[in-house]
Amino acid sequence: MDTYDRRAFLKVSTTTAVAALAGRVVAADTPAARPAFTLAPLPYKPAALEPHIDAVTMALHHDKHHAAYVAKLNEALAAKPMPGKSLDELVAGAGSVTDTALQAALRNQGGGHWNHTFFWDVMAPAKSSGTPSDDLLAAINAEFGSLEKCKTAFGEAAIKRFGSGWAWLIVKDGKLKITSTANQDNPLMTGIVAAPDLGTPILGIDVWEHAYYLKYQNRRPEYVAAWWNVVNWSAVNGRFGKARA
Ligand code: MN
Repeated sequence: MDTYDRRAFLKVSTTTAVAALAGRVVAADTPAARPAFTLAPLPYKPAALEPHIDAVTMALHHDKHHAAYVAKLNEALAAKPMPGKSLDELVAGAGSVTDTALQAALRNQGGGHWNHTFFWDVMAPAKSSGTPSDDLLAAINAEFGSLEKCKTAFGEAAIKRFGSGWAWLIVKDGKLKITSTANQDNPLMTGIVAAPDLGTPILGIDVWEHAYYLKYQNRRPEYVAAWWNVVNWSAVNGRFGKARA
């Protein structure tokens, strides 16, 4: 292709893209034109959580695993649109969706997207991990006796979760509670997750093997213990404040 042709080609491509965008804007209210969910970049570099979580694990976890949840969620919603629903609403409401294939997609892929977005947010490099706020620490002391006891109970929930899943610190009726869920379920999923375990997550750990196997192999307890070094307490404090408001 010579220079002239290439320019013509670019012009046609640009015109087509603009037309496509314009069409999207015009049709934005129709279910088919609903913008697909997107994978946000990690809020830090993949190596930022070293040595506690290795860069290769972080890159694969975000770029491959999380990306796949987003792609499959979009695929399901392209086939069976749920117009006007936020990710929170889709995940929390999955239990009341009667179409079993769509419910499974919202639960597994929607849950996967929600949980991982949350997970990246509640972690930070060890040097900026911070500490629980006075308010959060008071609630932790009231419920568990101390931060150390809270970590022990949370760690047990994470270690005892059979197979793949998550351990959570949630706010339920204004109080802190530790729970765990299987697969990509989470404590927002009314009608899927058992009622005593429902609440607003403020902290959570992914205990799927893909989250730790490259560095820790079968030693999930070591991963869970090291993970406390990269908890983003500032994010957890903020989530606690909102959940109790
Ligand atoms: Mn994961």
